[in-house]
Amino acid sequence: MQNDEVYFLLVDDLPENLLALEALLRRDGLVILKARSGTEALEMLLTHEISLALLDVQMPGMDGFELAELMRGTERTRRVPIIFLTAGNADRQRRFRGYEAGAVDFLQKPIEADILRGKADVFFSLARQQLQLSRQRDALKITADDNQRLLNESLDSADALKDADRRKDEFLATLAHELRNPLAPIRNGLQILRMSPDGPQAEEVRGMMDRQLTHLVRLIDDLLDVSRVSQGKIDLRKERITLQSVLQSAVETSQPLIDTAHHRLTLEVPDEPLWLEADGTRISQVVSNLLNNAAKYTPDGGKILLGARRDGNDVLVEVSDNGLGIPGDMLPKVFDLFTQVDRHLDRSKGGLGIGLALVRRLVDMHGGSITAESAGLNNGSTFTVRLPLAAQESIIAVAETADAGETVQKPLQILVVDDNIDSAKTTGWMIEMLGHVPTLAHDGPEALQSARALNPDIIMLDIGLPGMNGYEVCRELRADPAF
Ligand code: ADP
Repeated sequence: MQNDEVYFLLVDDLPENLLALEALLRRDGLVILKARSGTEALEMLLTHEISLALLDVQMPGMDGFELAELMRGTERTRRVPIIFLTAGNADRQRRFRGYEAGAVDFLQKPIEADILRGKADVFFSLARQQLQLSRQRDALKITADDNQRLLNESLDSADALKDADRRKDEFLATLAHELRNPLAPIRNGLQILRMSPDGPQAEEVRGMMDRQLTHLVRLIDDLLDVSRVSQGKIDLRKERITLQSVLQSAVETSQPLIDTAHHRLTLEVPDEPLWLEADGTRISQVVSNLLNNAAKYTPDGGKILLGARRDGNDVLVEVSDNGLGIPGDMLPKVFDLFTQVDRHLDRSKGGLGIGLALVRRLVDMHGGSITAESAGLNNGSTFTVRLPLAAQESIIAVAETADAGETVQKPLQILVVDDNIDSAKTTGWMIEMLGHVPTLAHDGPEALQSARALNPDIIMLDIGLPGMNGYEVCRELRADPAF
């Protein structure tokens, strides 16, 4: 391992001396650098962490002492231990000069191998220990840094949790409020109809109840969808469809809301069919959600634009309005679950702060993306959805779906299976009003029995039945050739 290596520097003008020393000192984990002059040695000292320098005293040019003095004068090299190698007897004066220059020892040539090895051993072990210490120090520092990072992370996630918790509390309050809102007019309407079924307001009351109920259903559907999407329970039913057909169905869904607020809706959609490989119902839900928001967050009589244009292999669908707009700091957040720009300002807009979260997830599931732009409060908003177009070669003629079918002449036998008695009963009444014959059943076994006795034309089968569920009933019926 590179980090465990210890470096010794040998300096001698005679190559054979260098080789002999190297042979003496060689061991695992030791890198021996050899220099043949003081200048060469200085270069090596500056580029390596040297743990011991063995300097020949007598060298042409810069001698060992001069080199040692230079080393003392340089911060990087001043603490490198030096052993001088002298030829012949070093007199006191020379020794003194050497120690002054920072020598730790003198060895006389010819070198006694055991003595040199013994001394080198001491420096080698020392250097090793220092390396280990500095590694431990680094490790400790890393651990301390790690701890700090973990602490910061947990503080961040605690903040995020607190934030999510606060948004959830606010959401529950909004939810209760928004679910109760439509109930009051519906109950009032019922009361009015009971007191005066054919009174002058009856038609208007029924229209109002229908609107409120539709709103309630939409809220609950969004709520169910968002929880299904987050649990990965929504499967896209992808098919080849034109963007135009999707936009048309979205406009049909949102038109009543747009009309109620007297907005003017303009469409800028190319005639050339833009083919998607997408779940038409879901994309239509996305666009209709954006149109509904544009209608909700624009004062009456506003302008809404629904545009589409090709951009390379994608299509951009844009919904813009000239309404309340969105403040810059809220733009990145509006797609978060339970986020509303100002939930206290105008609660009658009737939202739960989940529409855009759902929109973004549905768009993501289609491999697309969505962005929001706004020039600020009261300057309108623009939402742009990017969706991949279907690959060219995969666009094949799509058979026109057959029309809903010819109008039915003879009354049909219809078996309605639902454990919710009110739901079954009212469905039965509607069937009767349409001129057909309903039979009601409230659980699986009863459904099987009635089906076999009646042999109905149609079975309307609830899935969530107690005991035997709708799928099991269906499977059992299908196993019978008569069904
Ligand atoms: P909500 O149910 O409240 O409408 P959404 O998730 O659909 O929830 O939207 C989140 C928030 O984004 C809204 O409460 C509203 O404040 C803001 N918003 C969405 N669309 C628009 C728009 N077209 N103009 C202004 N604000 C909008």
